[in-house]
Amino acid sequence: MPWRRNVLVLLLAFGCLPTIATTAAAQVVDFTLAGRELKEPIKITDQIYQAVGFGNTFLVLTPDGNVVIDTSIVGMAARHYEMLRKISDAPIKYIILTHGHADHTGGVYLWKQDGTQIIAQENFPAFRAYQERIRGYLNHTAAAQFNFDPARIAALGNSPNQQVEPTITFRDKYEFELGGVKFEIFHTPGETPDALSVWIPQYQAAFVGDNLYDSFPNMYTLRGTTPRWPLEYIASLDKVLALKPELVLPSHGLPIQGADRVTERVTKYKNAIQYVHDETVKGMNDGKDVFTLMREIKLPAELDIGEDYGKIAWSVRGIYEGYVGWFDRNPASMYASPPTAADADLVALAGGASIVAAKSREKIEAGEAVLGLRLADAALAHEPTNRDALEAKILALKKLQEGTRNGIEHSWLAFGIRTAQAQLNTVSPKEEAAK
Ligand SMILES: [Zn+2]
Repeated sequence: MPWRRNVLVLLLAFGCLPTIATTAAAQVVDFTLAGRELKEPIKITDQIYQAVGFGNTFLVLTPDGNVVIDTSIVGMAARHYEMLRKISDAPIKYIILTHGHADHTGGVYLWKQDGTQIIAQENFPAFRAYQERIRGYLNHTAAAQFNFDPARIAALGNSPNQQVEPTITFRDKYEFELGGVKFEIFHTPGETPDALSVWIPQYQAAFVGDNLYDSFPNMYTLRGTTPRWPLEYIASLDKVLALKPELVLPSHGLPIQGADRVTERVTKYKNAIQYVHDETVKGMNDGKDVFTLMREIKLPAELDIGEDYGKIAWSVRGIYEGYVGWFDRNPASMYASPPTAADADLVALAGGASIVAAKSREKIEAGEAVLGLRLADAALAHEPTNRDALEAKILALKKLQEGTRNGIEHSWLAFGIRTAQAQLNTVSPKEEAAK
């Protein structure tokens, strides 16, 4: 198993080596950093190579030319291309895109040659068009989540080399043969409506795109997404299991090798999704509100697949609102007035922002950082430049950061800290003294 040689490097690249338990803070697992340190691709078999990244690029060799499965994100694609072309510079006959997210399509322009076929599922163009329509929104959330310059993100998105036109699309199944190797491609909707999986019967290998992570999936992503339907993930993972693969290659993370390990991992993952779906639906039918279910629903120990990437609470809300939308049966929610609309008046009645900020600190110190954060936000609704409230807010956000391994949660907390700190920097000590 040659790829195991690189596992240590890969673990380092994922930041998921076990920590020496000397600090209170949780070790953050940031999937977006995967592969940053990797200098060469992983040899999975004599014919399959993987360049690790956010996401992975796979190269499949055949005697009549090569097939590329996914091409990573624009910032990483060139390095993947360079590494994999050193393995083989034979013609690229096919590029298969597991779906239309930018971390899979970023390097198509590098790999595409005269005569290269680009295969995608038939929903790919509509999914790309949807992303394009709300690109302004997604640029804002991506800039905040990854601390990128919004102008740089917009420029990357506008780049003509990021436009991708599939030359072959299909509805349910497409197959071709190259150099005596058969490739079967199935529609497996899950993370996106255009998601596909690639099956190479000869190697018993299934490439499953983003339908399988080494964590609970991002069934709702904070970046913004239409509903990702749990029952579609489950049906798609069943399709993969029915093939009885010896090797499963997700587009993020490590391959899973061995039929027993594959069955165990994929079944557990699928059952975890099913459990969260069923518990959410049950709670909805019992009349429970979304926040109660976000708090209550936890995976039982035998289905615990971790929350380093997706979080169960976010998925619960995604499933709940995916089914029934945003109305919560409170008549006040019918109107253009947020639940926090009365905060400024309530803070004034309580005696002002600094008094509420003191209550916020009290809650944070008692281990209720989320409540402390809400109190600090209320104080700031009353007085946006109140130093005590800004400091309490930063303290709450830092406490929450210390308590999470989830890279996405960590990033959004960092965004909150940067924003509050920038506001705090505008509060001059003079202004403060004058109060
Ligand atoms: Zn991806």
